[in-house]
Amino acid sequence: MNQQGKLVVITGPSGVGKGTIVKSLLSKNPHIFLSISATTRLPRECEINGKDYYFLSRLQFEEMINKSQLLEWAEYAGNYYGTPKQPVLEQIEQGKIVILEIEVLGANQVKESFPSATRIFILPPSMEILEQRLKGRGTDTDEVILNRLTKAKEELAVSHQFDYQVINDILENAIADVEDKIKN
Ligand code: 5GP
Repeated sequence: MNQQGKLVVITGPSGVGKGTIVKSLLSKNPHIFLSISATTRLPRECEINGKDYYFLSRLQFEEMINKSQLLEWAEYAGNYYGTPKQPVLEQIEQGKIVILEIEVLGANQVKESFPSATRIFILPPSMEILEQRLKGRGTDTDEVILNRLTKAKEELAVSHQFDYQVINDILENAIADVEDKIKN
């Protein structure tokens, strides 16, 4: 069957559960491809270069920007994050649904560089629950968490600019909701 590839952007504040939702979609759908981002952030324990991210120096990242090798990029909490363009275009060409799991500024750029993309914003049930989730993850310092919560307030203020908003309250419902939007 010759199905048409497409680009889906999943965005929302850090800690909202984007990663969990995307993992579930990937495990159920072999034709979904997750783009691996480049970042200048240091790897967390158990993160693998080339699987979780391409971990780059600032110099290497800036070289990718200058060579127009990124579909979008943004500076987030002091580090660069961006989507390598080539693999995304190749997978779409092959009929795959390509998912970008990215922060809000980058998701906005995709609207310009790839207008046909479906852009989904994942919302937390409340700021209190988002804070609990970030703390519960145990991967970041208090300072980093505070930084991410401040950022989250700015991000939530523009959630209405996206094609769809999905509240991640009950995980299974959020997954089904996102799946539904992707298949539309
Ligand atoms: P983390 O440091 O927690 O892995 O990611 C921080 C934020 O950067 C998350 O909101 C994540 O979705 C976002 N992010 C990851 N990869 C990219 C990317 O390629 N581009 C953009 N704009 N944001 C990204």
